[in-house]
Amino acid sequence: MNKQLIKAAYSPEDFRNSGHELIDLIADHLDTAMKGTSSKVINYAQPTEEYEFWNNYLQVGEASELNKAIINRSIHLHHPGYMGHQISPVAPVTALTSLLNGILNNGMGIYEMGMAPTAMERVVIEQLCKVVGYSHNSGGFLTSGGTLANLTALLSARKRIGLNDVWENGTAHKMAIMVSEEAHYCIDRAARIMGFGTDGIVKIPVTENFEINTALMEDAFKKTTEKGYQIIAIVGSAPSTATGIYDNLDAIGDFALAKGIWFHIDAAHGGGAIFSGKYRSLLKGMNKADSMVIDGHKMMMMPSITTALLFKKGKDSYNTFRQKADYLLQESEDEDWYNLAKRTFECTKYMMSLHWYTLLKIYGKSIFDEFVTTLYDLGQKFGLILESDPSFEVAVKPMSNIICFRFINKDIDLFSLNKINATIRQQLLEEGEFYIVQSKIKEIIYLRVTIMNPFTNEEHFKELLDNIKRKAIPLINA
Ligand SMILES: *Cc1c(COP(=O)(O)O)cnc(C)c1O
Repeated sequence: MNKQLIKAAYSPEDFRNSGHELIDLIADHLDTAMKGTSSKVINYAQPTEEYEFWNNYLQVGEASELNKAIINRSIHLHHPGYMGHQISPVAPVTALTSLLNGILNNGMGIYEMGMAPTAMERVVIEQLCKVVGYSHNSGGFLTSGGTLANLTALLSARKRIGLNDVWENGTAHKMAIMVSEEAHYCIDRAARIMGFGTDGIVKIPVTENFEINTALMEDAFKKTTEKGYQIIAIVGSAPSTATGIYDNLDAIGDFALAKGIWFHIDAAHGGGAIFSGKYRSLLKGMNKADSMVIDGHKMMMMPSITTALLFKKGKDSYNTFRQKADYLLQESEDEDWYNLAKRTFECTKYMMSLHWYTLLKIYGKSIFDEFVTTLYDLGQKFGLILESDPSFEVAVKPMSNIICFRFINKDIDLFSLNKINATIRQQLLEEGEFYIVQSKIKEIIYLRVTIMNPFTNEEHFKELLDNIKRKAIPLINA
């Protein structure tokens, strides 16, 4: 064997050439996508059709055209018509940090396997904690996604608050968490993973504005406790995924304090608002939280997936996965901060801090203020346009960049309107000029928009709404 393939695969010259080509391709893509001159956000294909294409491509496709084909057959988040799920159109510089991560591939589990990014991670976490309003006792780390971060935070809560050390002894002890019925499904999943079962997830109904009904918390707490459950934590959403509405964190924080339970904030989507001079007040009370999750890949312009999990008492993050119940610290926490896998669910993780640190270094915190404020302002604007148009109705006045609305007509019943709105959304998907999603809230189908692109503007909103109205005409008459 003369190892030709290995030599080719590791050739720096080949890498240089194909790398330059790819960067040019990406820059061209960005240019057309951002201007909206590539008319489509998505070239939608049915799943089996897409499978056939790629199965076939492996046999007959040109390797030199592969990257182009991937771009053409992917959804384009940098297109102003992209208003779908809550994923960032990334700041292009973070694609470069992704590249650096890709080649260096430091595994981060222990200090030597990622010296620079481990130290950078601490710097980033300290910056975030400061903006939240935590003291110097705070701490945290970066981890793989809001879902995992929420689970990790709740495991930390169980470790500190739970009567029995489940980690060491297993348990028949019944525990529960309280959360709004509108919370992200991963909170429910986390509770089930922790063995709490259906009754261990106490869902508090929302008000008509879709925020947790704080007036019902006391009663729910009492009833659940009487059933023999120990409530260990309450979770606030900032905001909730479906509707974009922030819970009253201040009131939840006071309640948690009074009951001696852990207060966790799921700010996976809207945590970036800590940087927004204008919208930061939506998170009032956040400094009362024991832990808080902020996704970098949603409102902070970074690639998937990277999430900050912050703890008011940094010490809590060291206990989550500690094997011994009656531990004695061998080393002080300060000595141990750099072996990150002791605190994260992951063993290997990618060098996530590169994105955060690079954005802070090049643009400063203000970039996050500009980004979040712009998008939330656009949310307000879109809300006003919808309110002024009798063909539309919003589920709730927007508080963020997530807006649920639907086409309405006073002569048509709910069932038919649901069908019309769902059909419109499907037609939009297949047409591909806009990408929006849909969401069912209390039996009503809404069109759901998350404005993720700071270059989306009022013109795009108007085009979208005109498009929807055009589509509705034949559906009404059908
Ligand atoms: C997106 C989201 C999550 C899940 O986070 P991932 O990073 O996708 O795992 C959790 N909670 C809320 C409120 C979210 O918006």
